[in-house]
Amino acid sequence: MSEGGGRNTIGILGGGQLGRMLALAAHDLGLHTRCFDESADAVAGHVTQLHIDSFDHPARLDAFLDGLTAVTYEFENVPVALAQRISERIPCFPPPAALDAAQDRVTEKTLFRSLGIPTAGFAPVDTLAQLKAAVAAQGLPAVLKTRRLGYDGKGQYVLRDESDTAKAWGALGATDSSAPGGVGAEGAAPARAANLILEQFVPFTRELSIIAVRSEAGEVRTWPLIENTHSQGILRTSIAPAPNAPAAITEQATGAVRAVMNHLNYVGVLAIEFFQLGDTLVANEMAPRVHNSGHWTIDGSITSQFENHIRAVAGLPLGDCSMRDAAPSASSAMLNIIGRMPPRERLLAAARGRAKLHDYGKEPRPGRKLAHISVNAPSLRDLNIAIGELRAILG
Ligand code: AMP
Repeated sequence: MSEGGGRNTIGILGGGQLGRMLALAAHDLGLHTRCFDESADAVAGHVTQLHIDSFDHPARLDAFLDGLTAVTYEFENVPVALAQRISERIPCFPPPAALDAAQDRVTEKTLFRSLGIPTAGFAPVDTLAQLKAAVAAQGLPAVLKTRRLGYDGKGQYVLRDESDTAKAWGALGATDSSAPGGVGAEGAAPARAANLILEQFVPFTRELSIIAVRSEAGEVRTWPLIENTHSQGILRTSIAPAPNAPAAITEQATGAVRAVMNHLNYVGVLAIEFFQLGDTLVANEMAPRVHNSGHWTIDGSITSQFENHIRAVAGLPLGDCSMRDAAPSASSAMLNIIGRMPPRERLLAAARGRAKLHDYGKEPRPGRKLAHISVNAPSLRDLNIAIGELRAILG
C-alpha cells in the first residue's frame, strides 16, 4: 500500500478541535475517520466516531486499530512509544521521530541548530546551581520553561534581573524541593530532574509561523508566511501572507521547514514558529501537526492544512497551498474565540457577512479555545477594517 491508494480509514490520536477539523476534511474527500481520546466530551465525537480509552493501555490498541488503514495525531504529546508501536502495524504519520524531537525543547532546539536554523541561546537546567550558571552564561533577560508539556505560555517564567532567579526556580523548579534531597537545595543531587530550559529572551519585532506539508514521495508545499499575535501566551490573531515580509524572511522560513521535513523524512503538516528580529528569523518551536496559526487556510487558501494533512497521510496527491484569491494584495485573517462565545448573529453579520465562523462545540471556560472566525479581503487595509470589527465583537 505504499502509494496509499487504499488508505481510506484514518485513525486520529486526539479528539479536540484539530481532530474534529481533520475529520471534517477527510469526510469531504470521501474518507472515514476514527478519533482516539481519553475524554467522552472530546468534540471530534460530534462529527466522527470517537474511541474512548487511556493512552496508558497500549495493549488495548487493537480495538482502536481495527479496520484502520493509517494513523495520525492532532497533538504532539502522544507517547512516542505508542506511535512507534502503531507504526510497526500500519502507516503512522508524521513519523514518531518528529514527535520525539518536538516533545522536548532542548532536543528541538538542538535539531534546529544542527540544520543551521538559528535559535535563541539556551541551556538545560535541572538544579538551582545549573540555573545560576545558565543565567551567567546566557545573560538576562531570559525565559525559564519546562522542557516538556508546555503549551500556550504555560510553564514559563521571565527573568529580568538576578533577583528573579530564585523566584523562577520557586515557580518551576521547586516542585521537586519537597522530595528528600530535592533540587530545591542548591547543589544537592536532584531526586528527580527538574527538566527545565533557560532561553535567552528574544526582543522580537513580531512572531511568524510557516506551515508546510510533505508527501511520502518527498514533495513539499508551503502556505504563505503567517504573522501571529499572542496575548497571555495564547494565539489571538493570524494574518496571511504576513504583511511587509521581506523575501529574505520568507526564504529563511521556507528553507527551515523544508530542512526539518527532509531530515525527518516527514509526512503530513508541520508548523514552525519564529521570532522576527530585523531581517533574521529565530526558530522558537515546531508542531508536528496541524497548527492554530493555519486555521485561516480553511477559508483563505485553495487547500486547507487539514485537507493536505489528510491527503499526505492517505497517500493522495497534495493540494495547492496558494491563497484562494490570486490577486497579489489578497489577505486572510483568523481570530481565535477564547473563553466566551459572543452572539453568533453579531459575528456572522460582521464584515458584511464575509466572516466565516468555525464553532468547535465546546463548553465555555476561561482561556479555552471555543471557535475561530476567519475573513478574506482584497487588501490589507480592508482586512484590518474587518479585523477591527471582529475584535470589537470579541471584546
Ligand atoms: P512558547 O510556549 O515557547 O511558544 O512561548 C509562548 C510565547 O511566549 C511565545 O509566543 C512568545 O510570545 C513568548 N516567548 C517564548 N519564548 C520566548 C523567548 N525566548 N523570548 C521572547 N519571548 C518568548
